[in-house]
Amino acid sequence: MERPMHKLAQLDQRYVWHPFTQMRDWERAEPIVLVRGKGAMLEDTQGKKYLDGNASIWTNLHGHNHPKLNRAIERQLKQVAHTSALGLANEPASLLAEQLVKAVGRPLRKIFYSDDGSTALEVALKMAFEFARRTGRSRAPRFLSLDGAYHGDTIGATSLGHIDLFHKTYGGLLFKSDKVMSPACYRCPFNRAKPERADARTTRKCQWECVGKVESQLKRRKYAAMVVEPRVQGAAGMVMHPEGWLKRVSQAVIASGALMIADEVMTAFGRTGEVFAGRKEKVVPDFLCLAKGLTGGYLPMAATLTTQSVYDVFLGEYEEFKTFFHGHSYTGNQLGAAVALASWELLHQSKAKARRRAMERVLARELDSLWALAAVGDVRQEGLVAGVELVADWKTRRAFALRDRAGIRVCEAMARRGVLTRPIGNVIPLLPPYCTTDAQLRRMVRVLRESITEVLGAGQV
Ligand code: PMP
Repeated sequence: MERPMHKLAQLDQRYVWHPFTQMRDWERAEPIVLVRGKGAMLEDTQGKKYLDGNASIWTNLHGHNHPKLNRAIERQLKQVAHTSALGLANEPASLLAEQLVKAVGRPLRKIFYSDDGSTALEVALKMAFEFARRTGRSRAPRFLSLDGAYHGDTIGATSLGHIDLFHKTYGGLLFKSDKVMSPACYRCPFNRAKPERADARTTRKCQWECVGKVESQLKRRKYAAMVVEPRVQGAAGMVMHPEGWLKRVSQAVIASGALMIADEVMTAFGRTGEVFAGRKEKVVPDFLCLAKGLTGGYLPMAATLTTQSVYDVFLGEYEEFKTFFHGHSYTGNQLGAAVALASWELLHQSKAKARRRAMERVLARELDSLWALAAVGDVRQEGLVAGVELVADWKTRRAFALRDRAGIRVCEAMARRGVLTRPIGNVIPLLPPYCTTDAQLRRMVRVLRESITEVLGAGQV
């Protein structure tokens, strides 16, 4: 006999509209309702346990229900949960600002708090816009970003993005930004992709045509800023940039006189192996946008760091109205800042970095087994971010049509086997929380392998 749908699942289906979700599909099956978590595991209303394979949409760092993070919130809660940052300062937000500014290093000196990745970008883009105007660089400042860029879904952040599926519908609402080729090696039109599966195509030595494209675009216009997700473009499908691209592009941006906005909403806090991904190529931007992992994945809080020169153009007498007229009710939230401080401490514990390195190696070893599957076109990894791209034909790299829902079906099969992640089109991301054990990592990849085989066949290369 079929079990009746859980009350909470019924309530959800009746009332809740989910983000980035076709609700007609949603209504067809009983949703998973999560009620508790511990470490890398989550549990639903039926008592079924799942591995959190995408760190709850790339936010969670140290695991769920972490005693130290819980304690930090409890301690803060006994003081006060929230006070406004409009005209008032608070303890954890000031302490966190000091930690972050000291860690990012010069020339980033100032921090502006907000609530989410999108708002962190919104802040950077408004500041860069005004900076370009006030310094006389441009009267109608424009932004440059990468093909496949995703910087959030508020109107400003959406305008910086270039994923048709998300951005086309709202074209009429958005301001124009320019896009330039992304260094996505797997589908490089110059056919010099690297790494290359042995007999897929012939490869020639890469001549950095993608950097050339950026350089020539930067010469066409005096941009206010170029926006990049350093090293890994998340929502583009965990597209990993080749070593050296970021450094070359940052030099081109500096030479052009534009500012650089680094969107490290997904890549920061150890996710790609360093505290900040830009550090891997010794790149320090003019704006650094942080969110997601800032609070260890506990609370919505974001930060935009910038330079003294940007800060200074907003200084003036009150009646000059040079003030940065921007902010939110929960800017500088005390609970968020308190847990962010505790998360920062955990991230820097002496054994934590070594453990992340060890996890990277285990993950790499396990992922290697996926190359043998015909339905797998590319396996990408940077630090503790992995993206497995499913293809209809690995020899030609032909993609599955979106209506085949290959990624969705594989993730549904994974959920049945107790591993949660969310596809990006035909790319399956794996972003384990840093507390994931070796056995759990092996299970994550085994479940992915079994699910691909179940849904797309056991064909081997
Ligand atoms: N930038 C990047 C690189 C992201 O990956 C995301 C979210 N996936 C955002 C910005 C937007 O963040 P949020 O969803 O917290 O607004």
